[in-house]
Amino acid sequence: MDKHYSGFINIIGQPNVGKSTLMNALVGERLSIINNKPQTTRHRIIGIVSDDHFQMVFSDTPGFIKKPTYKMQERMNAFVETSFDDGDVMMLVVDTTEPLEQFNEELFTRLQNVECPVFLVLNKVDLLQPAQIEAAKTLWTSRFQFAQTFSISALNKTGTEELFQALVSNLPEGPEYYPKDQLTDRPERFFVSEIVREKILELYHQEIPYSCEVIVHTFKEDEEKNLIRIYAYIFVARNTQKQILIGKGGQAIKQLGIAARKDIEKFLEKQIFLELMVKVRDNWRDDESALRQFGYDM
Ligand code: GDP
Ligand code: MG
Repeated sequence: MDKHYSGFINIIGQPNVGKSTLMNALVGERLSIINNKPQTTRHRIIGIVSDDHFQMVFSDTPGFIKKPTYKMQERMNAFVETSFDDGDVMMLVVDTTEPLEQFNEELFTRLQNVECPVFLVLNKVDLLQPAQIEAAKTLWTSRFQFAQTFSISALNKTGTEELFQALVSNLPEGPEYYPKDQLTDRPERFFVSEIVREKILELYHQEIPYSCEVIVHTFKEDEEKNLIRIYAYIFVARNTQKQILIGKGGQAIKQLGIAARKDIEKFLEKQIFLELMVKVRDNWRDDESALRQFGYDM
């Protein structure tokens, strides 16, 4: 019998450094939501890559928030905390164009206690000259004993194949944790709600996106019409936010529905019917039971 290798690979780093882009490049599927606003990734998202001889389970974590102001943000930090102890390989992703001083000092201290190999991933090197990349490499590696260092562009997928191969060689012997044809541990409706949330981020401004939570409450195949019927709630914290979301004469939410439907159809490769309903739930970000319902508990 051939040996089988498997492991959990955690991607950590500050918001906006390119963690989600990297995971998508490695997993090869559009699993987590990418957007240039920080804090888009609220949950731990798992992507799975399998071969006959190995299985890699990736977690893309939300960025660490230095001073949590909402309970929701505390939960987000808790997700990040768990990635410090349950992995087989850890990747610290940094935005190489940002000065090192921007970096959260606390993370270096936390890394000292990590038992698995920690890879340093210098991302966004497409924006830098070779000399700048070398300088950043020297600086970062003087701060911590990384197992290996990679300079990549997650966006252009340069250097990602080499990183992928290094991850494969660092996997311990282990079983298949998930069926080999599975790409993620999240159900399809989770991605549907993430797509709706992504469109809210694109179409609305200021505090609106961060006040919304999208819950898909019905997801069913209509075999007669050969489409999927999807009904979702968008929860907001205040009535004024509901009015903005709906817009004058329902124009804004109509645009949102059209944009979301297009992407969901692309993702599911099937025609869909989508109904969005806005509901006010006062201050859900500080409401324990709402947070539980929305899946922020572990
Ligand atoms: P996350 O918050 O760490 O998950 O970061 P994202 O993956 O959401 O990326 C944040 C922003 O950086 C997005 O606008 C990406 O397109 C951009 N980005 C990610 N990787 C690269 C890269 O290698 N080069 C450049 N130029 N931009 C990148
Ligand atoms: Mg992200």
